[in-house]
Amino acid sequence: MEACFVNLVEPGDQVIVCRNGVFGDRMVQNVTRVGGEAIIVDSPWGRAVEVDKVEQALKANPDAKFLAFVHAETSTGAVSDAKALCKLAQQHDCLSIVDAVTSLGGIELRVDEWGIDAIYSGSQKCLSCVPGLSPLSFSEKAVNIVKNRKSLIQSWFLDQSLVMSYWSGEGKRSYHHTAPVNSLYSLHESLVQLQNEGLENAWARHQSQHETLAKGLEKLGIEFIVPKEERLPQLNAIYIPEGIDDVKVRSYLLNHYNLEIGSGLGDLAGKAWRIGLMGYAARSENVALCLAALEDALKQ
Ligand SMILES: *Cc1c(COP(=O)(O)O)cnc(C)c1O
Repeated sequence: MEACFVNLVEPGDQVIVCRNGVFGDRMVQNVTRVGGEAIIVDSPWGRAVEVDKVEQALKANPDAKFLAFVHAETSTGAVSDAKALCKLAQQHDCLSIVDAVTSLGGIELRVDEWGIDAIYSGSQKCLSCVPGLSPLSFSEKAVNIVKNRKSLIQSWFLDQSLVMSYWSGEGKRSYHHTAPVNSLYSLHESLVQLQNEGLENAWARHQSQHETLAKGLEKLGIEFIVPKEERLPQLNAIYIPEGIDDVKVRSYLLNHYNLEIGSGLGDLAGKAWRIGLMGYAARSENVALCLAALEDALKQ
């Protein structure tokens, strides 16, 4: 996230930032820290980014240079229409900056087809890899911005113009930083596994495991926060049933079943649980364990 904003946004640049959860808010903080002007489009937590509102903001701010949004908001479990938002950005001469930390490998994501200009992900979510790496992709337009900036990129470590000369600059392989090779081998393995399964098959597996989990939760009388058509299969955000103690249930699951579910973040703290079904973890035995353990915990 920071690598995108620090490389692309120059002081004074207007950035339209969509905020419908914790990570959209983190984008706002990144824009501010690099001296950009964040124009915030708020949508309710637990819902997708409202495309109409974004269009109004683009029309009202013709000088805006970027549109930034989170594809899969992990804090609330809502997916936003990345394809429509990127199209809007193009129509208004804005570059898109997209958070795909939780979406990559879990749901449909088409970087070039949707015309995404800058996108980042993480190794530890649906790629099921060790944490610490952040795959990043820039379009030609984004690369040109990095190369033709007026001001120096404030972070030396994240400066992609230096990293680009490692890949393809004069002489090539000019030293920038020591690569975390162990983690890169790990990422390679996780991508091999994804390739062997097939990306589309992985998307379908996340969806079907989510549906099994949703059915089971319904039987327990538990309600989802996000409306069906905006739900992320890999992050199931549910309301804590009335009269149930948030912390007691989560520690019971952890101590009796070695199963950890997420607490609510930000506005949803104390009101929600978040059940992750990401990457390798999105499989039948885990869904069955989770439903049985949750039923027991609620009874207790
Ligand atoms: C997890 C997550 C991040 C942050 O990833 P870290 O590796 O913890 O910094 C950012 N955005 C989204 C949508 C995430 O789910």
